[in-house]
Amino acid sequence: MNSDLRDLYQEIIVDHSKRPRNFHKLDAGRAVEGFNPLCGDRLTLYVDVDTGVVRDVAFEGSGCAISTASASVMTEVIKGKPVEEVHALFATFHKLVTTGENGAAAEDLGKLAVFAGVSEFPSRVKCATLAWHTLEAAIKGEVEKISTE
Ligand code: ZN
Repeated sequence: MNSDLRDLYQEIIVDHSKRPRNFHKLDAGRAVEGFNPLCGDRLTLYVDVDTGVVRDVAFEGSGCAISTASASVMTEVIKGKPVEEVHALFATFHKLVTTGENGAAAEDLGKLAVFAGVSEFPSRVKCATLAWHTLEAAIKGEVEKISTE
């Protein structure tokens, strides 16, 4: 990664950690709490899934810059996307932050690519993935709820 790109990525992460997007409660949908004891990051994720599509998503909480920025970028990226696509994105994102590899998927990842540098700091992987793990739990709950009706 060249240094200009690294600076740009750093700038986006700082921006999202200072001014997180979709940082509020949602009245619709489900709320699930996530906690990363390694770092102390805490968040509550709100997600409204309807007919297999993420209609709205938001979060609240407090954590380190990486966890806040990751949750913020995630909410921007997944809003309006089908749940299937969100699962695939998480798999690609997880690979990116654990191995630094995005390869051909870089374009699909869009803004999520800014977290590539996290792979150099294994202790921060849980910070970057906290919002995603919480989202998965929230979506699974939603799916279960739908299937029992
Ligand atoms: Zn953290």
